[in-house]
Amino acid sequence: MERSILYRGPLASCNYGCAYCPFAKRTERAEAHERDRLALERFVSWVAGRAGDRIGVFFTPWGEALIRRRYQHAIAALTQLPQVTKVAIQTNLACRLDWVEACDKTRLGLWVTYHPTEVARERFLGRCAELDQRGVRFSVGVVGMREHLAEIAALRAALPAHIYLWVNAYKREADYYSPADAAFLSAIDPLFPLNNQRHPSAGHVCRTGAQVIAVAGDGTISRCHFIKAPLGNLYAPELATALRPRLCSAATCGCHIGYVHMPELGLESVFGAGLLERVPATPIWLTAQVSATGR
Ligand code: SF4
Ligand code: SF4
Repeated sequence: MERSILYRGPLASCNYGCAYCPFAKRTERAEAHERDRLALERFVSWVAGRAGDRIGVFFTPWGEALIRRRYQHAIAALTQLPQVTKVAIQTNLACRLDWVEACDKTRLGLWVTYHPTEVARERFLGRCAELDQRGVRFSVGVVGMREHLAEIAALRAALPAHIYLWVNAYKREADYYSPADAAFLSAIDPLFPLNNQRHPSAGHVCRTGAQVIAVAGDGTISRCHFIKAPLGNLYAPELATALRPRLCSAATCGCHIGYVHMPELGLESVFGAGLLERVPATPIWLTAQVSATGR
């Protein structure tokens, strides 16, 4: 069985305070952290028991997980398992980075987001440089707020050329970008136009639900983070029969971690082995306009 698992445990807290985020500066009690720890350990044990499978794991926490040692240890342990093809995680990169030395770095990928209101650019760039020196594969990204356009350009200029900088479109306001803004951001991230839209998806083929699944801390499986209907439980014996190809039932799909699994967009070949950590297989940001099949 070859499968990618998007794991999101009970954790719901963050050390940063981004204004638009429900987890900003949210803290949790010791019991909540203990619940999260137990769920994470159970998940890692389940993966460890799947000898012979090929499993990619992508941690998509509510909030920031890498500041917690349990996630650092879990990722390190998972990368050492022969059946694990890749372990990736979304992070603000506020954590220490020495833990990556306990990983098999050939199977580690980080999806790093820069939050200009929460950390100075120089400090953030220093963390990226350390990650690079330690030989970790990672992408860097930012939400394309209009007030941050100059900051995004400065970040692009300061990052090493071999690091991909993606830009997530701010889609909560209609027509948020002027044509000039959109062109500016597309010059930084050639995949920005694909992100700056909601892709019609009802009745369309999507690999989630079969080759890609989302798993909650209690093992509940859903096809993706956007369609919550449970398909089964990771820890129940009927797992193999619960997962099969299904057409999407949502009207649209507007988030990278969702539409990247729609074959019609051709993104599997754009990202290749870097699909989970959002690193394109070739440096498309250097060779300009990509021909991904955005409509
Ligand atoms: S770093 Fe991420 S999780 Fe934390 S407050 Fe900002 S957007 Fe939310
Ligand atoms: S297209 Fe998007 S919303 Fe639909 S099933 Fe796939 S990931 Fe989920």
